Amino acid sequence: QTSTFKDGSPRKNLVILGTGWGAVSLLQKLDTTQYNVIVVSPRNYFLFTPLLTSTPVGTVDLKSIMEPIRHILRRKKGEVVYLEANATDIDPFNKNITIIDNYQETKNITYDYLVMCVGAESTTFHIPGVKENAIFIKEAYDSLKIKDKILNNIERAAFLDINDPKRKQLLSFVVVGGGPTGVEMAAELQDYVNESLSKWIPEISKDISISLVEGLPNILNMFDKNLIEFTQNFIRDSNIDLLLNTFVKGVDENSVTVEVNNTKQIIPYGMLIWATGIQPREITRKLGQELPRFQTDRRGLLINSKLQLLGAEDSIYAIGDCTFHTGLAPTAQVAHQEGRYLANIFKQLHKLDKLDWESKKDSNQSDIRQAQIETQRKYILEHKISDFQYSYKGTLAYIGSERAIAELKIAGRDYQLRGSPFAFLFWKIVYLSMCVSVRNTLMVSMDWCKVYFFGRNSV
Ligand code: FAD
Ligand code: NAD
Repeated sequence: QTSTFKDGSPRKNLVILGTGWGAVSLLQKLDTTQYNVIVVSPRNYFLFTPLLTSTPVGTVDLKSIMEPIRHILRRKKGEVVYLEANATDIDPFNKNITIIDNYQETKNITYDYLVMCVGAESTTFHIPGVKENAIFIKEAYDSLKIKDKILNNIERAAFLDINDPKRKQLLSFVVVGGGPTGVEMAAELQDYVNESLSKWIPEISKDISISLVEGLPNILNMFDKNLIEFTQNFIRDSNIDLLLNTFVKGVDENSVTVEVNNTKQIIPYGMLIWATGIQPREITRKLGQELPRFQTDRRGLLINSKLQLLGAEDSIYAIGDCTFHTGLAPTAQVAHQEGRYLANIFKQLHKLDKLDWESKKDSNQSDIRQAQIETQRKYILEHKISDFQYSYKGTLAYIGSERAIAELKIAGRDYQLRGSPFAFLFWKIVYLSMCVSVRNTLMVSMDWCKVYFFGRNSV
C-alpha cells in the first residue's frame, strides 16, 4: 500500500507480533486499508489450541486445526505483509524492532503502533531434566512429537518379551500438571487406549498405564469445587492414575522424582508430557527490561485498561498471554476479546491521527475549523475509546469417554454441566463455533465423523 492516503495524510505503520489468538482476532476485525500492516511471527499459521490435545492420538487431524495466516490475510481488503520471523529486540524509544528469520537473516522494521501478541511459552519452573526429557503440549510440533513417541513406544514394547521390565516402562505414560491442558491430554490418551488400541493390539493396550501428576491437593483449580470433585472421581474411574499432592522435583531420561508428604518417590515413565503452565517469552522479558520503572512484574507485560503498555502508552499495545493482569486468566477467550477490542481502538486512532494531521498541516486554518477538530478529537476520546471490558462466558474442559464439564455464565447467571452427554455435545458445538474458518470447522467435523464411523487413524 502507498504510504499516504489520497488527501496526502500519512498511512501509519502498524506492526503485529504473533499469529495466535490475539493477533488473528485483531486482524479479522481490523480495517487494514487504514494502516500499513506488517505481521511478524515464526509461525505462518494460526493454531486452534483448544483441540491441540486431540491431535497426537488422531481424534482430530493436526492440519484441521491449523489455518494458514495467508488464508486469513487474503480475505482482508487492504494489503497486509507477513514476515516469517521472530522479533528479537524492541526499542520502544526509537520505535524499532529487530527481527530474524529461520535462516538467521535479520531486518529492522519501524512502527508507529506495535501490538505485542507473542503469547507465552511452557514453563518448567527450572526443574532439572524437564527440558531435555519431557514433551510439552503447546505447539503443533509438540503434537507430532507425542504421536511419534506413542507409536514408537508401542512398537518397541510389542517387540519385547512380556516379562521384560523395559516393556512396562515403555508403556507408562505420565502427564504432569493437573490444569486443563494436562487433564485433557490424559483424557485423550485414555480414550485412545480404550477405544482404539484395545481393538488393534489388546495385549499392549491392557498394559498401558496413564498417570496424571498434580502438585496441589486437586486438579482444575479454576473450576467450582463440585466440578473438581466430579472430575477427579470420573478420572479415577476411567483408569487414569490420579496422583494429587505429588510435586515433581526432578526428571531424568527414565523416571520422574516426586515429593509426596515430604518423601521422595520415583515414577518410571516411557513418555512424559509436561503441562505445568506458562511463562513469558524472551522477547516479552526483554521489552519489560527496556521499561524497568513501569514493567515490574515478571509474570508478563503490564498494561492499562486500554491495553496500552505501561511506559509506552502512545505506541505499544499488548494482549493475550504475554500480558499479566490480575483477574484475567491466560486464555484464548481473553486474547480473542482483547484482539476484537483493539480493532476498534485502531479505527478510532486512525480518525485521531487524521485530525492531528489536518490540524498541523495548515497553520493558517480558520479558528472555526481548529475548534471543530478539537471538538471531534474530544468526542472520540471521551465517547469512542472506552476501557476494555472482559466478558467471561464460561470454561469448558474435556474429561474423556465423550464427557465434558462446563461452567457457564449466561445473562449474569452461573450454570454447570457435569459430564452429561449433552455437556459433550455442547463442548463440541462451542469449539466448532470458535474455529477461525469454515474450512477448519468442516475439517474438524469431518474428523469427528471419521473417528465415529471408522475409528482413529493409527499411523
Ligand atoms: P498464542 O495464541 O500462543 O500466539 C502467540 C503467537 O506469537 C504465535 O503465533 C507465535 O508463533 C508468535 N510468536 C512467538 N514468539 C514470537 C516472537 N519472538 N516474535 C513474533 N511472534 C512470536 N484457552 C481457552 O480459552 N480455551 C481453551 O480451551 C484452551 N485450550 C488450550 C489448550 C492447549 C493445549 C493450550 C496450550 C492452550 C489452551 N488455551 C485455551 C489457552 C490459549 O491457547 C491461549 O491463552 C491463547 O493461545 C493466547 O493467545 P495469544 O495470542 O496471546 O498467544
Ligand atoms: P495451569 O497453570 O492451568 O495448570 C498447571 C498445573 O500444573 C497446576 O495445577 C499446577 O499446580 C501444576 N504443577 C505445576 N508445577 C508442578 C510440578 N512440579 N509437579 C506437579 N504439578 C505441578 O496450566 P495449563 O493447564 O497448561 O493451562 C494454561 C492456561 O491455558 C490456563 O489459563 C488455562 O485456563 C488455559 N487452558 C484452558 C483450557 C480450557 O479452557 N479447556 C485448556 C487448556 C488450557
